[in-house]
Amino acid sequence: MVYMDYNATTPCDKRVVEEMLPFFSDEFGNPSSLYKKAKKSREAIEKARSQVAELLHCTPEEIFFTSGGTESDNWAIKGVAFALKDKGNHIITSKIEHHAVLNTVKFLEKIGFEITYVPVDKYGVVDIDFIKKSIKKETILISIMYANNEIGTIQPIEEISEIARKNGIYFHTDGVQVVGKIPFSVEEKGIDLLSLSAHKFYGPKGVGALYIRKGVKILPFVHGGHQEKGKRGGTENVPGIVGLGKASEIAQQEMEEEMKRVKKLRDKLENGIKEKIPEIVINGHPEKRLYNTLNLCVKYVEGESLLLNLDFEGICASSGSACTSGSLEPSHVLLAIGLPHEIAHGSLRFSLGKYNTDEDVDKVIKVLPGIVEKLRKISPFWNNK
Ligand SMILES: *Cc1c(COP(=O)(O)O)cnc(C)c1O
Repeated sequence: MVYMDYNATTPCDKRVVEEMLPFFSDEFGNPSSLYKKAKKSREAIEKARSQVAELLHCTPEEIFFTSGGTESDNWAIKGVAFALKDKGNHIITSKIEHHAVLNTVKFLEKIGFEITYVPVDKYGVVDIDFIKKSIKKETILISIMYANNEIGTIQPIEEISEIARKNGIYFHTDGVQVVGKIPFSVEEKGIDLLSLSAHKFYGPKGVGALYIRKGVKILPFVHGGHQEKGKRGGTENVPGIVGLGKASEIAQQEMEEEMKRVKKLRDKLENGIKEKIPEIVINGHPEKRLYNTLNLCVKYVEGESLLLNLDFEGICASSGSACTSGSLEPSHVLLAIGLPHEIAHGSLRFSLGKYNTDEDVDKVIKVLPGIVEKLRKISPFWNNK
């Protein structure tokens, strides 16, 4: 099997699983309890908090554990919106956000907040001037994702955060696709709030974190006990948090090497496909793009048919994003970069990661051209063009 859908999820690193295992059974103490046994769980959580903080270059006190990227996005946006609702009701975001952000702001829109959706250019880069012009005295938050999960485009984060800071507006970024992939410092990038998710970088599913810069005003999202300084109630997912910590530590140590290796594989795949298949379009920014992501449109064929045929050959890829596939709506991201409906339907995303090899890439380059040729032969669009 060839797995090339790492932007959807990644397998847990074996070292992560090993680190987690004791906390399911032997070290099961409730971190909130007072006896010695509970101290082990408490210490494990605090160790993980330091490991995540080291990866983001912030202090451990600024890391809050959640159930994943979706909860972190919900918390950041609703938490700030409700905390600052007396100051203003205007939020700026982009048209190509993940649904965890888009559907959160849509909910806020329904209850009286005003949302501006910033357009992107043909590469998927947000329009900076549009952001500047959209700001008004009611603006309380700008939420723009760091890198897009579908096409991989990386946004000019420092420029956006500078605009936010100058105007006294909080800046949140969905960092799910960059944490563990690219090294950066939240401090240097001027980020106030950042969402991350463990299962996108070789940690377990169902756990993530929200970075909240010290001093940022935000309401709790999950009301309950005193956990996470009273900001996120509920008994902690100790094994999950330990896994997130270990995944962060491994990423910190191995990211630099992986970046070079995976980029080489992605570039080989991209060039191989371009060479062998006519009439394809590569989506996303030519340079400012995640080094593991290749999104392309194969003209005159359906993405879904491509996927099924690839699956038959034991190759896992994705069309549009995992959350929209299954519906026949083309991806909102591909429409936002200006692709016409019929081309957006033929999109295919390969996202590579640490268990991919040269042989994997060779196999896709060998198999895909035949599949495309077969499907084009029966495509009325191809035959009538
Ligand atoms: C996967 C993903 C999410 C959701 O994270 P979960 O942990 O699966 O809830 C949010 N944003 C982006 C950009 C993602 O890729």
